[in-house]
Amino acid sequence: MADRPMLERLVKLNDVWLSRKDVLHGVKSYDVSTKKIRIHTDCGEVITVNNSRRSASARALRNSKYRKVCKHCKLSDVRINRFVAKDFYDPGITYVETPVKKTAPKKVMKKGMAEQPAAAAGSGGNSSRPPVGAAAGSNGSSTSAPAAAATAAATATAPAAATTVAATATAAVTAAAQTQPAANKIQEPVTVNKLSQSQRKRLETLLVSDEIDLDSPDLPPFEELEAELVAKRKAELVDIYENSREHMLAQLERDISAFLISKGFIEIKSSILIPEEYIVKMGIDKDVELSKQVFRTDDGKCLRPMLAPVLYNYLHRFDKILPDPVKIFEIGPCYRKESDGSSHLEEFTMVNFCQMGDGSTRENLIQLIDEFLTHLGISYELEGDECMVYGATVDIMHGDLELSSAVVGPVPMDMDWGVNKPWIGAGFGLERLLKVRHNFKNIKRGSRSEYYYNGIHTNL
Ligand SMILES: [Zn+2]
Repeated sequence: MADRPMLERLVKLNDVWLSRKDVLHGVKSYDVSTKKIRIHTDCGEVITVNNSRRSASARALRNSKYRKVCKHCKLSDVRINRFVAKDFYDPGITYVETPVKKTAPKKVMKKGMAEQPAAAAGSGGNSSRPPVGAAAGSNGSSTSAPAAAATAAATATAPAAATTVAATATAAVTAAAQTQPAANKIQEPVTVNKLSQSQRKRLETLLVSDEIDLDSPDLPPFEELEAELVAKRKAELVDIYENSREHMLAQLERDISAFLISKGFIEIKSSILIPEEYIVKMGIDKDVELSKQVFRTDDGKCLRPMLAPVLYNYLHRFDKILPDPVKIFEIGPCYRKESDGSSHLEEFTMVNFCQMGDGSTRENLIQLIDEFLTHLGISYELEGDECMVYGATVDIMHGDLELSSAVVGPVPMDMDWGVNKPWIGAGFGLERLLKVRHNFKNIKRGSRSEYYYNGIHTNL
């Protein structure tokens, strides 16, 4: 089958470039990147275009028509005739052998990109399924009762799930605005709210929280409001640059770390890549929703969906080394496949702290959590749930948002990890803490991102 050659090859074969105005230039040189081709003409122009076989440029070079010849390029008749006659290749043959080298990687990339959404869709249900945290939590408490860390880890994405329900529309809108910056420029017909859809999207992206009611009847004209918000956001970023220079997620991590160290907990940094068998050992077998959400690598490892397994191992090992009680914590990224990118984080940051041995009581757990959240300036309510089969869990809520589910051990799973003392533990998702603290509509604003810096949209 005759495949159309890449623009790159057409440029090489023709040795000339046809401008948009159909002026023929000589090609002095060209270089190619993964996607682009940059052509230097004999007359000194530099043109960068997509290295595509379907572009207008490619079509022009496949044809033989031109309007005039660039007088600065001083093209010889031979070169012009070469372009016109196209006798340098037999289309039927050359087309076939041509692009193999260049196209192969591109096809692979396209395929990979196409698989991504498919995999995501397959991995999760729809928006009506229970939040990840709930699913994982119920697994934990009813089947094998994972460590506090596990349950807590599970709740880390519950933040994403539950919290963002209300903000889903905003999130979707923001996500759309992110992926299609061009949409900002399209002026759609005016809607009932006098803001067009694209205008509303743009403004929502520029708003950090609920600072302005976009449905207010006396909203300033869009252009005015947009300019005002852009100026405000720019000033805020400059202020951060001149003063704190700290990323809010990193700063929160440091703050929590210092707090827990001051409370006698030793900090752990373990691998983000963990053996897949840890997942199985946590009781997350193939039937469980969470199992489908695990990012697996091809060598029997996975990106950790929670911190619990390694913390279990630490408790087991440190029990033989450190004085009682053993108090440990870890803060770091965890990963779970989410089908709804607009309201879930696939990459989130967990903190898990646990204490094993003396003083591992419910009272102490609640007091520690109180000091922790008070230190962070986050209000909360407790919802005790003591009718669980294994141990007692304490849900820490902020309004309707579950911040954490803490656990008072022991739980049966402890046996599998060689842990045989009472323990208490809790886990929090840091992005959710940021969302609450800063009243973000969208959890992504406080997450690892190239689109937001400290909640501020970076495309200003
Ligand atoms: Zn020229």
